[in-house]
Amino acid sequence: MWIRLSEIPPQGVTVSSPVPLAQLGLVNEAWWTDGPVRIQLLVTRESDLILVDGDISASLKFHCSRCLQECAYAVNGAVHLTLAPAEGGARAEGPHQLQADELEQLYYREGGVETNDVVREQLLLSIPMRVVCRPDCRGLCASCGKNLNEGPCGCPAPAASRLAEQLKRWQSGDA
Ligand SMILES: [Zn+2]
Ligand SMILES: [Zn+2]
Repeated sequence: MWIRLSEIPPQGVTVSSPVPLAQLGLVNEAWWTDGPVRIQLLVTRESDLILVDGDISASLKFHCSRCLQECAYAVNGAVHLTLAPAEGGARAEGPHQLQADELEQLYYREGGVETNDVVREQLLLSIPMRVVCRPDCRGLCASCGKNLNEGPCGCPAPAASRLAEQLKRWQSGDA
């Protein structure tokens, strides 16, 4: 939802309609959702600043990075953002080294903010690089590929055995 600064009433604008992932341009293969991203945002203004407060939640689905089983990861985060106008601000022009306090500063452009952009950025910030189905996930056996969470496999020495076997075969010349 596009919200223009000049059109924000004193009580603010409430944005609470669920957003499908596709609408956020976040369709990828690394993770997906069962349903839309749920948002509850209040957009207010304070002079030329746009304030966005509320909650973003979604039930994300991943493949566990160890055992590759499908697992869920719930995102549920509070949003408290202050966006300053990008135009006219000297700091917004050209590439330059970001100072620590600037990393915190967000900008809006063309007189308003697209709440979907805010939701997308906040969602991406809350997604970890790697997700495991549980902290003690045992992963897959490197030799036979069995999911070790379901029990041990018959392989003698996991991980090292396959390499050792290959070396033996190379050495004997029948690789
Ligand atoms: Zn796992
Ligand atoms: Zn195995």
